[in-house]
Amino acid sequence: MVRTRFAPSPTGYLHVGGLRTALYNYIFARKHHGSFVLRIEDTDQERKVEGAIENLIETLKWTGIIPDEGPGFGGDYGPYIQSERLELYRRHAEILLEKELAYYCFCSQERLERLRQEQIAKKQPPRYDNHCRNLPADEVKRKLQSREKFVIRMKTPLQGSVEVRDLIRGKVSFSADVLDDQILIKSDGFPTYHLANVVDDHFMKISHVIRGEEWLPSTPKHVLLYEYFNWKSPEFAHLPLLLNPDRSKLSKRHGDVAVESYRQKGYLAEALINFLALLGWNPGTDREIFTLGELIELFSVEKVSKAGAVFNLGKLNWMNSVYIRSMDINRLVELAKPFVPQHFYADENKFKEVLSIIRDGLTTLSEIEEKAALFYAKQIDYSTREAINILRKESARKVLSTLLENLSGLKKLDGRVFIEVMRKTGMETSCKGTELWMPVRVALTGQIHGPEIVKIVEVLGREEVLLRLEEAIKYADE
Ligand code: GLU
Repeated sequence: MVRTRFAPSPTGYLHVGGLRTALYNYIFARKHHGSFVLRIEDTDQERKVEGAIENLIETLKWTGIIPDEGPGFGGDYGPYIQSERLELYRRHAEILLEKELAYYCFCSQERLERLRQEQIAKKQPPRYDNHCRNLPADEVKRKLQSREKFVIRMKTPLQGSVEVRDLIRGKVSFSADVLDDQILIKSDGFPTYHLANVVDDHFMKISHVIRGEEWLPSTPKHVLLYEYFNWKSPEFAHLPLLLNPDRSKLSKRHGDVAVESYRQKGYLAEALINFLALLGWNPGTDREIFTLGELIELFSVEKVSKAGAVFNLGKLNWMNSVYIRSMDINRLVELAKPFVPQHFYADENKFKEVLSIIRDGLTTLSEIEEKAALFYAKQIDYSTREAINILRKESARKVLSTLLENLSGLKKLDGRVFIEVMRKTGMETSCKGTELWMPVRVALTGQIHGPEIVKIVEVLGREEVLLRLEEAIKYADE
């Protein structure tokens, strides 16, 4: 039975890299008819952020990557929040102490800091020197009795190497020299990530650990822990790093990394998911637009690349515009509402028409307010230089007043009728092409670019068209 998990630390926001990890885990579980688990790794008390868990779950729900098990989602392997499982970790640290695969370490912060400085000065990689690894049992007992502060460390091999089998990278070997005697229980009694992660993956029956490449160096320690407990290790797959365009590791300095800010800026969950799915994986063709269902069908973890994947905002923008253009219009109406003032959708049919006219030119939902404004303006701004230049032309005055006259007599105005009237206006004024159409565009919108005029006229309706023509003529006369 395939069981995967997403195990974020609640830092206050969901990182786009985290969402990619969640997505790959989700897709993999779905593909193999397994379960996808959300586990909150909150054992680092110093990094605790109020409301972070709720925010994370809310954001995950928005993306549509919904866990089968997790806090608030039910499941038989809970609790799914590590701070509610502390007893389990302590018990397992005890087991390793009894097996002499772990030991108490009483080294003070000062000693460790001194050691670190010395190693740095000698240009050695900083690591624990195993000072407490062989303390005599009676000394340990005495220190514990006198309540000296301690941590519990795992023993790592003093020589040889530890091998990690990775579904993406194959066999990766780590020499014993790079394996520190890792702390398992901190002096505050909380477990470190390493112990809690392994214990939970075991008890939550996780079959595949799919996570970012930055965790690969920790994996040999995890492999050792599985051995020490006599547990079967899950399979591992380490996903390539996400990179800035300059190929440095994706960071806030280069742009947004919080999924929440993409949401606020009007990116669609489907587009973001589609985009992230292709950061590190592709189906081997040029195709780029996929539904989640198609991704599940096509995905294979073996095809995930080893090389870092560049987070290309231009590509995300393009995908977002594709999704906006092609989505169901009623859904677009709903998604657009939070991005515009309420009076825009007081008449929902009008809002729908407006959206269907402007959607082709949108990159994000947050552009809707500006692009739709011309359909809701109480007054058009004709004061820009380009508008003035057009309206004050002699031919423009002629076109606008003739058009106004021709329209005034009509009862009803639709696109077809408008084209007829424009033809007549053109003949009467001997204007054609831009000379004929541009003044009308400017009179109706104040701008020289925009959606098709006939469509604008259809949405505005007869009254509003007449009003704007009058206003424009007045402005040109001033
Ligand atoms: N808590 C770790 C993180 O924040 C989880 C790493 C893992 O998946 O093992 O990314």
